Order: sequence, then C-alpha cells, then structure tokens
Amino acid sequence: MPRRKKNVYLESLGCARNLVDSELMLGRLANAGWNIVQDPARAHTIIVNTCSFIESAIDESIDTILDFSAHKQNGSCRRLVVTGCLPERFREKIAKTLPEVDCFIGTGAFDKIVQAVEGVPIASGCLLPDPNLTVLSEPSVPRIRSVPHMAYLKVAEGCSRRCSYCVIPRLRGKQRSRSPEDIVSEARLLIESGVKELILVAQDTTSYGKDLKGSSGLGRLLEKISKISGDAWIRILYAHPESIDDNIVKTIASGRNICSYFDIPIQHASRPVLKRMGRSYNQNDLLKLFDKIRSAVPDASLRTTVITGFPGETDKDFRDLFSFIEKVKFDHLGVFIYSDSKDIPSHKLPDRVPKNVAKKRRDRIMSRQREISLENNRKHIGKVFDVLVEELPEKRLCIGRTRYQAPDVDGITYIAGELREGSFASVKITDALEYDLVGEAA
Ligand code: SF4
Repeated sequence: MPRRKKNVYLESLGCARNLVDSELMLGRLANAGWNIVQDPARAHTIIVNTCSFIESAIDESIDTILDFSAHKQNGSCRRLVVTGCLPERFREKIAKTLPEVDCFIGTGAFDKIVQAVEGVPIASGCLLPDPNLTVLSEPSVPRIRSVPHMAYLKVAEGCSRRCSYCVIPRLRGKQRSRSPEDIVSEARLLIESGVKELILVAQDTTSYGKDLKGSSGLGRLLEKISKISGDAWIRILYAHPESIDDNIVKTIASGRNICSYFDIPIQHASRPVLKRMGRSYNQNDLLKLFDKIRSAVPDASLRTTVITGFPGETDKDFRDLFSFIEKVKFDHLGVFIYSDSKDIPSHKLPDRVPKNVAKKRRDRIMSRQREISLENNRKHIGKVFDVLVEELPEKRLCIGRTRYQAPDVDGITYIAGELREGSFASVKITDALEYDLVGEAA
C-alpha cells in the first residue's frame, strides 16, 4: 500500500462527459496515493474541472474558481488547479485573468493531473496540448465514481460536425471513438461493481464508430452491452438527428434492458435557421424520424433541446419552431437562449435577435411545454413501472426515476414507501405533476 499523500478535492462542473473526465482524474490521483475528500475545507489541493460551452457556464466556472480560491487564504488549501474546457477555450490568457490559480490543464492533458497537483513545474502554469491527443482510455486507471448505482460510459471523444454556434470541436478535437472491446470491457466492470444504469455518452453519441475502420456503429455496440448487462438499464444521451439510423432504433426497440428513451437535440425546426446553424435536416426529416421512432418503439420517451434567438431568427421562424413543438409533443424539452461569442462561426451572422426577445420566446415555449409535459405525464397514471430508487429524503418517501426519465435533466418519481437506495422497485403511478410523477410501491 502506498503511503497516503495529502487530501485533494475535485469540483466537477458542466455535462456528464466532463463528469467522466473528473472521475478518471480522481482515479489517477487515488492510484498515486492521494486521499480524495468530499469537503473542500479539508483539502490541501482543490481541482475545478470546468465548462465553457456557453456564457452562463463560463460565468459559473469563474465564480466557482474564485469561491474556492478563498480556501487558499482561509483554509488548508495550498494549491488550486483548474482543468478542462475553460483553459482550453481561453488558453494562456486565462492565467493572467485568474492569478489565484496555480496550474491550468487543458482537455488534452487530463492524464497529467498527478503532475499538476504535485507541483511539477509547467511553463507559464498552463498545459494545453492538442485536444486531439486526449488519452481515450487506460484500463489500469479505476474511476472514482460519484454515484454507486449509475455510471456514464464515454464511447467517443470530440465531434467532427461543425454546428456554427458550437465551440466543442475546437475544445475537444475531432471525433475519436473508443474500440468496442474497450467499451464492453469497461461496461462489464461497471456492471460487476453493482451499477444499475449505464448511460452511453459522447458529443454526438449516435455517430459512434464512424471514424473506426470496419465498425458496425452504435447499434451493434448497444447489442453487445445489452447482452452482458443483465437487468441493468442502458440509456443513450446526445443523439444527432442525422446519425440516428434504423439499426439503432431497431436495437432500442428489441433490447429488453435498453431504455425506450431518445434524447435528440434538434436545436430548431425552421429550415433557414437550421441552415445557418450548419444542420442539414429540415422539419419534414424530423417529423419522419419521430414517426419512425414512435411506430418502432410505441412507449418511446422523446427528449430534445432547442435554441431561441439564434441570429436571423424571425417571428415566422419562431412560430415554425413553436408549432413543431406543439405537433411532436416531446416528453421532455429544454430551451437555451443563443449565447454569442467572438470565437464561434455564428458570431459573424447578421440580424442579431435582442436578448429580451430571445428570452420571451424561451418563456413561451417553456410555458407551453409545461402543459404538454403534464398531459403526457397524466397518461401514466394507473400504470406500474420499474423505478430505480436514488434517494431516501424522509421516512416512507423515496425518490427515483422510471426508464423514461434521465438523471439531472428530466423529472423524477416520488414514491410513498420504504425502499432500498440503488435498487429497482415496482411502482404504481398515482398522480402526475408538470415534470414529475407520484406513485406508491406496488
Ligand atoms: S453535434 Fe453537438 S457537439 Fe458537435 S458541433 Fe454540433 S452541437 Fe457541437
């Protein structure tokens, strides 16, 4: 046993893919003898793994760094390390803006976290190699996971698309898929460790394998994972409307343990806006896709995200989007307001939409979506679902999710009864709220 070194605390911001990077960094640090703590006040080193996808994420990252920097003055913290998308986006400039930080690590250097934490000298305090060089997997590095019963499984890194509003391909490089063998063996380890839900993620998950020679894509990978996962659920997040093929839909339809859940961010439904976004489908393509999914998987739960206020979005474009949402009646929907920045291609587009107009449009969609979501939820009253129990906030009250609800982004299910955390339970739905369900142990 190596002698335990000092305490380290990590704060993970942003998306599920970032969380996987955080868990792997913690695994590397634990392997190197560091003691992982849950309380930043006890840490000698604090790491903030950041997000910089949109303006609000940048603000949150900077605020979090500044908050934690206080521990250097008032607490036991001696070293503050910032990793991920914020330093990747702002490069060496960020070191001048945030002198409180001792070291910055970009998305191509997560594997150097031990050196960064241990104070190995790094020129200008920034380690920012080409993100295309990210180490995709190291089977010898165990992940220190934040939730025992659920795990995200990253199947690829980077994105080869060029949506005009998105900075991700620059921050994460081109798509590089992991080998199916590597993913299946990680899935096996996760299932053996007691995971009850495996969530496959990438930037464009349904494009998995397109960069691998002879790959038969995500459908085949799903089949393999489904076979070794017993009763554990398998879910996919971040599908792209252009890469979700028939094989994927067929595999989801026939996979006993694959959730009938389709997270397909469409971003918009008006042809001119989609064109300016760099997305080459139109409303008819989307309608055909959703019809196909609903006829192959009748209990399919559909989730999407859209952007309001994209440059040039007219009242007519917005009406098109609104009526499309009314037509499809998504089970879950999120709206982002367009976030501009000089370093994304859409910055050069004319006809800016004022922020207050973009906000009003978002609010109109969300207010209609609340009604749609309630209507959809009411259809579940009286049905019995398997629910994965995740929290026990009070005696005789549990919180869980059906297979139609993804963690963090969708609603939850309240259950009257005493159940075990991290287990599946049969639950009869007795009531429906705008986003959540209410039920009792059946
Ligand atoms: S597919 Fe997603 S991650 Fe890739 S460029 Fe488009 S929005 Fe960004």
